[in-house]
Amino acid sequence: MAAKSALETERRNAAALDDAALADLARHFRGELIRPGDPQYDAARRIWNGAIDRHPALVARCTGVADVQTAVRFARERDLLVALRGGGHNVAGTAVCDGGVVIDLSAMKGMWVDPAARTARAQPGLLWGEFDREAQAFGNATPGGIITHTGIAGLTLGGGLGWLMRRYGLTCDNLLSADVVTADGEFVRASAGEHPDLFWGLRGGGGNFGVVTSFEYRLHPVGPIVLAGVILHPAARARDVLGFYRDYIASAPDELTTIVVLRMAPPAPFLPPGVHGQPVVVIGACYAGPVEEGERAVAPLRRFGDPLVDLIRPTPYVSHQGLFDPTAPHGLGYYWKSEYVPSLSDALIDTLAAHAWRLVTPESYTIIFHLGGAVGREDPEGSAFEDRRAAHAVNIDAVWSEPARVPACIAWTRDFWEALRPYSTGRVYVNFLGEEGQDRVRGAYGEAKYERLQVLKRKYDPTNFFRLNQNIRP
Ligand SMILES: Cc1cc2nc3c(=O)[nH]c(=O)nc-3n(C[C@H](O)[C@H](O)[C@H](O)COP(=O)(O)OP(=O)(O)OC[C@H]3O[C@@H](n4cnc5c(N)ncnc54)[C@H](O)[C@@H]3O)c2cc1C
Repeated sequence: MAAKSALETERRNAAALDDAALADLARHFRGELIRPGDPQYDAARRIWNGAIDRHPALVARCTGVADVQTAVRFARERDLLVALRGGGHNVAGTAVCDGGVVIDLSAMKGMWVDPAARTARAQPGLLWGEFDREAQAFGNATPGGIITHTGIAGLTLGGGLGWLMRRYGLTCDNLLSADVVTADGEFVRASAGEHPDLFWGLRGGGGNFGVVTSFEYRLHPVGPIVLAGVILHPAARARDVLGFYRDYIASAPDELTTIVVLRMAPPAPFLPPGVHGQPVVVIGACYAGPVEEGERAVAPLRRFGDPLVDLIRPTPYVSHQGLFDPTAPHGLGYYWKSEYVPSLSDALIDTLAAHAWRLVTPESYTIIFHLGGAVGREDPEGSAFEDRRAAHAVNIDAVWSEPARVPACIAWTRDFWEALRPYSTGRVYVNFLGEEGQDRVRGAYGEAKYERLQVLKRKYDPTNFFRLNQNIRP
């Protein structure tokens, strides 16, 4: 049945994308149109997750709103499957499709900072490293992701967890407006005052409602130097370290955001060679405030136990943003499972300690984001984002370079996840979902929010034209 419908889709795409149709499209399109056989095709269909290997019939690399409208109308008139690509940095691989059209925003990298108003307008092809570089030219930043080569588009639309969030909220909490091309090719601006229902859905509802062609963000004074870095403890002391960590962050100021990573120490140049390959608990910290205040805030963390390494120091904000980049290179295979948890209970710590280092590959890891602060103070119903009650998002990340490791990597992730689920709030961060089915998407939002999102989907995309995402079914 599935094979038959794939064949039908392929036939329809071939008919819809004949030379005459493409020649007509090319007359109205300013960007690149990339097809199978073109020299750029393989690079254009590749995304961050090397486990995703899909072959679109066309990659329409847009230069601006007019190209996006043209591509949307072209695909719509021909009933073609459509994927939206921002940074191409999503584990589920929804930025690329088999057959169909990729509406590729990756070349749209403009950014305009208004230093007086402390705002920035940014196009959807920007990656966080590029965004931060421009914002830091004015001593500003907005909360973004922790890997500089993640796209601003998908991250913002799903929520946005990062080093500044406990002080300044999620990325989507700092969104002031968004320009959107809807499923019928119309242009609208969504903000608190214009299409407020759409603005609500864009902040956490992902790519379900249209193609965002620009994002307007609130900026904050950050850096250029912040107190930030990592402390490493041996995994053998994980229970003590995580117990201490839980009690320590219970009274941490909002300026301090921490992230825990459970893994084998990577062969990173900033770590002493003796630590490389050792099972470790990594506690990362970033203080979004004066360095001297930060020193006082992290003092108890530095005093605890006998760390293998303490690399927390005054450091450029942009350097800290790139600290974890080497742990998530493009092209390796990735498989994730994630849950939000309300606290790090003793039983959960035991579960983490029991599973985290049964790794199949040394590149795999578990990452624990630290929420609360400004994230928890926002109105939980004020945006589509879930779940502001959570204390942490736990993400189990299997990573491999050899395909032979896939079954064992998936088994490790799933076993660990099954053990984690009893401690979950019942919700999961949509941006950390793989292709996990409708129940997981519903569960990510909870019934009431999912139904509200469905009402919005019926208004802005009743035919589910934008369906390659964590899909809200109209
Ligand atoms: C290594 C790694 C680290 C990460 N770290 C963090 C982190 O620190 N914090 C965090 O919150 N998340 C993080 N994420 C998750 C990240 O937020 C999502 O993967 C996000 O989807 C990436 O956005 P992108 O634009 O790069 O992805 P893409 O794959 O290009 O897009 C993903 C989806 O977003 C939608 N989309 C993209 N662009 C548009 C657009 N212009 N208009 C409408 N819809 C669009 C589409 O539905 C698309 O399928 C990380 C992911 C990875 C792989």
